[in-house]
Amino acid sequence: MVTAIEPLLREQLLDRRYKLESATNAFQDVSELSRLLEEVDAALKRMDLGTYGLCEVCHDPVETDRLIADPLTRFCLGDLTPIEQQALEEDLQLASTIQTGLLPQPSQKFDGWEIAYHYQPAGLVSGDYCDLITNEEQTLHFVLGDVSGKGVAASMLMAHLQAMFRTLVSTRLPLDQILERASRVFCESTLPTHYATLACGKASPGGEVEICNAGHLPPLWIHQRAVQSIEATGLPLGVFSNEHFSVNRFQMQIGDTLFLYTDGLSETLDGIGSEYGVERLSRLLSENHALSPKALIETCVREVHAFRIGKPPSDDLTLMAIQRVG
Ligand SMILES: [Zn+2]
Repeated sequence: MVTAIEPLLREQLLDRRYKLESATNAFQDVSELSRLLEEVDAALKRMDLGTYGLCEVCHDPVETDRLIADPLTRFCLGDLTPIEQQALEEDLQLASTIQTGLLPQPSQKFDGWEIAYHYQPAGLVSGDYCDLITNEEQTLHFVLGDVSGKGVAASMLMAHLQAMFRTLVSTRLPLDQILERASRVFCESTLPTHYATLACGKASPGGEVEICNAGHLPPLWIHQRAVQSIEATGLPLGVFSNEHFSVNRFQMQIGDTLFLYTDGLSETLDGIGSEYGVERLSRLLSENHALSPKALIETCVREVHAFRIGKPPSDDLTLMAIQRVG
C-alpha cells in the first residue's frame, strides 16, 4: 500500500522542502526551519533506502491514512509515546466535532416532505455522507453515500463530497449532470484506490421524485405494504472520470416513504455471523409503513442493535427516511 502512494508523498515532501527553503531565506531565526528541513530530507532518504513508511520501533508498516495526513510520520500507532497518543486522540475528537457540524438538521419538514435520518460512525469519524439541501425553487435534494475505507482518510473524502454537492446543487443542473461532474472531480482529486457509492435524489412538492444512483445500495420505496427497490443507474463515483448516469423518475403518493441506507445496516452481523440483509429490512419496512420517518428510523436502529446482540458496530451506519406528507 505504501508503495502505491509513495510517488504522491514524495511530491508532497519535495514541495514542503521547497517552501521551507524559501522561508529560510526570508527569516532571521532559522533554527526551527532547518530542523524541519532536516526531517523532510531524512524522509526522502528513507524513500531512497526503501525503509520509508516502516515504523522505526517495530518495523511494521505505518498506517496509510496517517502517512497521507503527515508524510513525516515515523512510528505506528502502537509505538507512539503517551503524549503523542493523547494529541492524536484530541485531533480525532476535534475531527469528529467538525464532521458532526457538516450534517443537516436531524429531522425536518420541507414543502410536502418530512425527513429523518440517523448517522452513526463506527469510530469517532465516519466515511458515510448524508445530506439534505433545499433551495428557494421548492425542491429538496437528498444525498446518501459511502466512501471506500474507514476512519480519518474516509472522513476527509466525506467532507470533500459534502462541499462538492453543496456547490453543484446550487448550480441547478439536472441530477445526472450533477453526478457526472461530481464523479469527474472526485476521480481527479483522490487516490485511484478510493471511490464512493452514492444515491442522490430530488423531491418536488407535487410528489415527483428523481434519483440518480452511483453504485449505491438501491433506495427502497415504501407504498403501503409494498416495498420496491430503485435500482442503481451508474458506477460508483471516482472509478472513471467520464461516467454517465441515468435518472429514475417516479411519483410518490401521500404516506409513501423513501428509505436510503448504507451497508452498515444490511451487512450487520448477528452472533453466528449471518447478515441482517435486505429481505429482513424490506419486511420490517413493510410492517412499519404507517410510521412517521422519525419513528421508522428509530425502529430500524433498535432492530439492528438487537440483531447485533450488543456487539459494537463494525461499520459506519446511516439511514434516511423521506415521507410525502401532502
Ligand atoms: Zn511500530
